[in-house]
Parts: sequence; structure tokens; C-alpha cells
Amino acid sequence: MADPDFAGGDFTDEEFAEYFGTPARPSTERRRIPLWARLAGLIVALAMIVGSGNFLLTEIRDFASLNDAPEIRSAALDRIAESEWGWLAAEVVIVPIEEPRVGAFVTNNPSDGIIQIDLRPWGPDRLDRLVDHELGHLLDFAVWGAVPADERRGGISSEAWAECAAVDAGTRAIDLSEVVGEYHCYADELVVYEAQVGQLVEVCARWGDRECRTIGLGADGVDN
Ligand SMILES: [Zn+2]
Repeated sequence: MADPDFAGGDFTDEEFAEYFGTPARPSTERRRIPLWARLAGLIVALAMIVGSGNFLLTEIRDFASLNDAPEIRSAALDRIAESEWGWLAAEVVIVPIEEPRVGAFVTNNPSDGIIQIDLRPWGPDRLDRLVDHELGHLLDFAVWGAVPADERRGGISSEAWAECAAVDAGTRAIDLSEVVGEYHCYADELVVYEAQVGQLVEVCARWGDRECRTIGLGADGVDN
């Protein structure tokens, strides 16, 4: 609750001068703003509130509720268990990552299948998207190993591939307008991603127990 003394912000000029040391602006100034201008200002303010409503709802719904390493790891493992490519992850570790822009990473050459996630508060939706992004990298590493960049992923960038993996997994929206930076999945990139994945017959992890799976068939051999 707001302090009722300040709720209206109404001071006499004498009170204003006493509290803040300077005279209030002339009280006639406010009355000189025409009604149409005040209404226009109100409409703009309302439009801003309505326009940001979806964003605010998303942020509130995805409040960073995962705060410590065991909580973050547990949520990441849950996502891995649900994900089509989760079996490629050998381990999840939660560590402080110095680079502020990096929320998580996996390594290639040599690849170990370990997803390292930054120790910071995560919202569950944001974490799911992050895990799907890293699984996209692991799929890339598994399929193409050390093949040069221009001969893998159908030619799309490493980050676009990983972002499209998250779109394909349903935890990220496609980018309909141009994005600053390399973390995007445009419609044409998603087409490339899906075409490449559609051609896969068998994928083998290049780490851990080097498990191989036939694509389109579950581990039990049943098409799912
Ligand atoms: Zn990435």
C-alpha cells in the first residue's frame, strides 16, 4: 500500500516549499494544458499499458523461481527426460559462467555431452528453452562431429540451428521480424532444420556410452 500522505501528491505551495525547499511550480501551469492534450496523454498511456500486457503476463508467469543449483538441475533433467533429443545429454552441471551473455554451453572437439548451465535464477519456461537449445547443439555435434561449418546443418549457423531446435521442440517462438545478434530462428532456417532432421536415419552420441538411436523409432522400437 502507498503511504496515504503521498497518495495524492497534493501539497499547498507552502507545504511543498517546507518539504522540498523550493516553491512549487505555479499552480496555473497545470490548468494551461488543454483538455484534448490531457486526453491524448491518457490514451497513449493506456495503449502502452495494454501493449505491454502480454509481455508482463509472460514475465510474471515465468518468474525466476528456480534459484539454487539443485532446483535448476532438477528442472533441466525433467526437460531432458521429456525432450526428443534428451538422450544425447550425458550430464547437467550448474556452474557460475563468467560470460554474462552465456546462460549455458556444451563443448565440441572433444564433445562430452555435458550441458553446463549458469548458476543464476531461471524461470521454468526460459530454462526449458535453454535446455532445448543446448540439445540442438548436441544433435549437431552428434550428427556432424568435426565436419567444417559450411558442410553441416544444411548451411545455417550453429546458433540458428540450436534456436530452431527449441522452436521445433515447442519451447521457443519462431522469429517473424529481424533479430539483433545470432540467436534467431527465421522461417527459412526452420525449414532447413526440419529438412535436415527429416533426413536422419540414425543418430549416435559421440560421448559417454556412444548410444545410437534410429530416428522416428523410440528406444523400444515402437514408432513414436
Ligand atoms: Zn548456443
